[in-house]
Amino acid sequence: HAKMEGDQHWRFFTEEMESSTQSRVQLLNELRSALNSGKGLELHYQPQVSPFGGRMIGCEALIRWIKPHGEFVAPDKFIPLAEYTGLIVEIGDWVFAEACRQIIRWDRSGLPGFRVGINISAAQFREADFVTKIAAVIAETGVDPARLELEITESVAMDDPESVARQLRELKSLGLKVAVDDFGCGFSSLGTLNKLPFDRVKIDRAFVRELTPETSNECIARLIVKLARSLGLDVIAEGVETQEQASLLDEMGCKEMQGHLYGRPMRADALEDWMRLRGEPS
Ligand code: C2E
Ligand code: MG
Ligand code: MG
Ligand code: MG
Repeated sequence: HAKMEGDQHWRFFTEEMESSTQSRVQLLNELRSALNSGKGLELHYQPQVSPFGGRMIGCEALIRWIKPHGEFVAPDKFIPLAEYTGLIVEIGDWVFAEACRQIIRWDRSGLPGFRVGINISAAQFREADFVTKIAAVIAETGVDPARLELEITESVAMDDPESVARQLRELKSLGLKVAVDDFGCGFSSLGTLNKLPFDRVKIDRAFVRELTPETSNECIARLIVKLARSLGLDVIAEGVETQEQASLLDEMGCKEMQGHLYGRPMRADALEDWMRLRGEPS
């Protein structure tokens, strides 16, 4: 049961229609003040590993919103609202800058130079100055752009393929990497992989879940790995929870994984501890 691109938004709006406009406005106000005060929004980082080579290869930055009284709001609850209202552009600016600042902090504590995946939404690409802003943050923070991998979903690519392709080429000439996120669940054609300058494919969690031999998920995952590899793209699976899933993916040729089996998204300092516990070189 592959989820369709946009079903998050659909679920969001159905829920929202039942709740009042007032609570939606309130949520938006709270989100805005969290953003403006610099309190309440955090980036957590989930490790990405090459399990059978035993190495950590990077992490994905994932936003967390903790309300003043400690209530935790999941991204699936506020990212769609932020996208709908355009606030995602400001949030996205904060996410990108914060991830760059964190890389610099990790550098200072002597951690190895692993890559950091950053989610970018379609609205950010629609801003005329998106690439300019990215370049400015890189210059200001002094971060090595080779450490950064922007994650975009297939739907972003469908928005305005020509303009997105141009922006991706500009980003890549700055030295950043680009991954297609949640691959396999969107409406785009397989040709998207060929038309846009992606470095990596992230297999959607929907196919990794219930990944057992001779199921349709296994066929799809195998096909995605084969397709990615024959186009010369790297491939990573997300949502890996069991050793069985990891072994199957490895056997298919997918050598990079992200999931609860290895580590949940965690605060930056917890990631440092996680790395030390695993004996990652520094
Ligand atoms: P995503 O980019 O596909 O991120 C992967 C999601 O899968 C994360 O959910 C992660 O916590 C979850 N995950 C990873 N491994 C496992 C696993 O083994 N089992 C299970 N059950 N889940 C796993 P999260 O953090 O709730 O984020 C959900 C989505 O919200 C993200 O999906 C992304 O689309 C969006 N998002 C998160 N942070 C940002 C952000 O900074 N900017 C934007 N634009 N979107 C974001
Ligand atoms: Mg992602
Ligand atoms: Mg994903
Ligand atoms: Mg997702």
